[in-house]
Amino acid sequence: MNLKQEKADYIVQRLEELYPETPIPLDHTDPYTLLIAVLLSAQCTDVRVNQITPKLFKRANTPQKMVKVPVSEIEDIIRPCGLAPRKSKAISDLSQILLDKYNGEVPQSFEGLEELPGVGHKTASVVMAQSFGVPAFPVDTHIHRLAQRWGLTAGKNVEQTEEDLKKVFPRDKWNKLHLQIIFYGREHCTARGCDGLQCDLCSSLNFLRKTPVKTKK
Ligand code: SF4
Repeated sequence: MNLKQEKADYIVQRLEELYPETPIPLDHTDPYTLLIAVLLSAQCTDVRVNQITPKLFKRANTPQKMVKVPVSEIEDIIRPCGLAPRKSKAISDLSQILLDKYNGEVPQSFEGLEELPGVGHKTASVVMAQSFGVPAFPVDTHIHRLAQRWGLTAGKNVEQTEEDLKKVFPRDKWNKLHLQIIFYGREHCTARGCDGLQCDLCSSLNFLRKTPVKTKK
């Protein structure tokens, strides 16, 4: 077994001990409300999204209702999440597409999801994993940074990181691991907070490391 695989196996075991439960961080009631919440979470914290969505979903929690809300009103409600003009238009437009093309349902495919305005591969992966139980590995900034600090990828870009992680972690663990890594990153591994030499996981994984890891964005 190669070293990278040994590291990956150790990570699976430690994260399972640390985070046996993985509640979904974004509050939602169905695939549509999760899709909207994930879209809102771009450049915004999950905590803030969870503060905003109750008001938005009280106004409209289905595509049928959302298309009747003026874009300017959606924009006002979601303003604290940032990028409000773009996100509000995307929410309105994608709701119309769901009605026109999918009978008001959220499509259960990467292709269908990624065609929707405001929905990229990461958002589609979260919805596929968390709403439909399809194995996916959405790479956000925490995962991108940790995968580099743990020596699992050279971290050229998020696509490469996703590919590298999918190779070393078993497919049936992707969805849970994705959340466990995010939880660990939030708790221990902040953007500038650590040089990669401090806590249990890095020191166990990189015992020969003598200098801090420089992570790529
Ligand atoms: S040692 Fe630092 S970089 Fe490594 S996992 Fe811990 S907090 Fe993150």
